[in-house]
Order: sequence, then C-alpha cells, then structure tokens
Amino acid sequence: MDTPVKPKPVPVVNPWAKPFWDAAREDKLVIQHCKDCGSNIFYPRIACPNCFSDNVEWIQASGKATVYTYTVVESNPPSAFIVDLPYVVAVVKLAEGVQMLSNIVGCKPEDVRCDMPVEVVFETLNEEFKLPKFRPVSKPL
Ligand SMILES: [Zn+2]
Repeated sequence: MDTPVKPKPVPVVNPWAKPFWDAAREDKLVIQHCKDCGSNIFYPRIACPNCFSDNVEWIQASGKATVYTYTVVESNPPSAFIVDLPYVVAVVKLAEGVQMLSNIVGCKPEDVRCDMPVEVVFETLNEEFKLPKFRPVSKPL
C-alpha cells in the first residue's frame, strides 16, 4: 500500500507559550524564570510549578545542554516523519537546569550518548515555525 507522506504537524501554540515560538523563529531559545523563587521553568506555564507565583518572566537560555536520555526511532507507521528515519528523540538537560524534549541532529544516531554535550540549532519547519533541535558540540582540538 502506498500512503502519501503528509506534511508535518505544526505546534499548537497556547497563548502563554507564544513567546517561546516567537523567539525560536529568531533563532533564540527562551525559557521562563520565576521572579519570586528563582526557578527556571520549561515547558511554558502560566504559573511557577515550584511556588505557584504568576510572577514569571522570559529569559534567553544559553543553548548549551547535555543529553539526559534518548531513543533512536528506526521505524514507524506511515507518517510525516517517515522521511526522517532513523532519527533521535531525546530529552536534553539545558545548562539552566530544565529539561526539553527534542531531536539530536548533525550526527549519526549510533554516535549519540547520554551526557553528551549538545547545543541548540534551529530547524525551519515553515514560514511560521522554527524548531529547536540539538547537535553535538564539536570538541576543541
Ligand atoms: Zn516560583
């Protein structure tokens, strides 16, 4: 059976997450920061999950992270992502302490390791969205 490849789904943007996607479109990775307790927050929320304050602001993250855990997707049912096989789905831990679900790109899936240093790179999905993904940090010689 030949199934046509569908276009990739686009993010559903909650009003309180809009600043994240607006920044990503400009190649900036931002997270929330609680001005009352100092917690860094990701994913975007309307209140701090630590102290429930709504006194939260957006800060720019360094884009530096390490791989916390990952899986290599080798096959899946026909979907918009079949053209990317094999690909790496990972949870990365940002230098700012929060975790983010993303993809590891720019290396072979078999070269990905836990605790590997990675940095953000933005992949254009369409005119409206860029997706933050992570690639290995090249080691200094
Ligand atoms: Zn807080």
